[in-house]
Amino acid sequence: MDTVVARTILSLTGPGIVLTFSLAFAVFWLIERRLLYLPVLALSCLLFTLGSLSQILGWPPGVGANALVSGAFYTLAVLLTVQGILLRAEKPFNWWLCLAVFAIIEALFWYFFYVDRNLTARIYVQHFGYGLIMISATVPLAKRPAPRPVDRVLFWVLLLFALHFFPRTLLTTANWIAPGVAAFANSLFWQAMLFSVGLLAAVLALTLLFAAFSDVLHDLRRERDYDALTGVLNRRGFGDRIDTELPVIDNPVSLVLCDIDHFKSINDLYGHDQGDVVLREVGKVLRQNARKHDIIGRLGGEEFAILMPDTDVEAALQFAERLRAAVEAHHYGLPDGATGVTASFGVATREPSESWNALFKNADTRLYVAKRGGRNRVVNQDNTLP
Ligand code: GH3
Ligand code: MG
Ligand code: MG
Repeated sequence: MDTVVARTILSLTGPGIVLTFSLAFAVFWLIERRLLYLPVLALSCLLFTLGSLSQILGWPPGVGANALVSGAFYTLAVLLTVQGILLRAEKPFNWWLCLAVFAIIEALFWYFFYVDRNLTARIYVQHFGYGLIMISATVPLAKRPAPRPVDRVLFWVLLLFALHFFPRTLLTTANWIAPGVAAFANSLFWQAMLFSVGLLAAVLALTLLFAAFSDVLHDLRRERDYDALTGVLNRRGFGDRIDTELPVIDNPVSLVLCDIDHFKSINDLYGHDQGDVVLREVGKVLRQNARKHDIIGRLGGEEFAILMPDTDVEAALQFAERLRAAVEAHHYGLPDGATGVTASFGVATREPSESWNALFKNADTRLYVAKRGGRNRVVNQDNTLP
């Protein structure tokens, strides 16, 4: 009797931990309502716990009913976990697929108990089914653009969890004890199996909780460093990148400053909102034309900067000229008859060992020259100052 109690307590450890995760996801969601995958994961952990309890405590009694009920909880838990993970990766929640998979698995459970009683088939359906559901979720995760380290960890933990179902199934059928279900349920092997799935679920839940913390931190960093209107770095973010990257960039490095022409009159004529649209679109033009490793920032108002590593005078000049033409050609949705949007550019290339301040001053002086020279132009030397 003591052994049975000890085993029951041991097997309750797994679901106990997963229940704690359910609470953690729920509380986290109350604090961070934007992360909609959190309540889905909270629910999936809760369903997993209920499935485990139903199996461990033998409720509802009767092998068939117990298999159907605990199986339903587990299947829903697996489906919701996968949907939660996909929701985090910005894939839409697929209710119909969940319902269809759930119905198929439950129907097979029912069939292999009440019509053609076959425990091995039930084990195969459940374990291979869960393994396949999880593997199917790793495919869109693998295709995710620009994964962060936490995304990679999550991918591998999910894949490991998915793959473990296959040897687990073979082990379970190989260790099946002929005298009956009760003996098997009490066997140390089966307790170890229950414990291991609880442990793996806890590892996955821990990874997801960590991923959620990392998402919040990532969002906060983005809000701190990026300009919400234009999608480029704000002054602070740009400054930080310059501080960390400029000292390690090999010469030549060029700086392009861009200032929208007569922007004040766009605001005055068409309203501040329309001015914001122009700013947003100019930001888009800059992002579309820059290379991946160029650093783009909005330094304030309607002034932008692009720091270009490995770019000499000629290449920077060509780039700025291309930008100038692109800003002028872009459609901004201004009322018919409005004059087009243009911008002026100042370009400077860093001399060896030149400081950021000196580089910026040169580009800024040339931007001023471009303005004085009639705007909508690119200037890369000071001596044209009228
Ligand atoms: P110039 O050709 O000499 O650059 O003239 P300008 O009118 O573009 O420059 P000025 O510095 O006189 O005006 C900049 C204007 O930008 C003034 C300010 O109200 C406006 N501005 C600054 N930030 C924002 C913003 O976030 N949204 C909008 N809509 N306007 C802004
Ligand atoms: Mg301006
Ligand atoms: Mg300005």
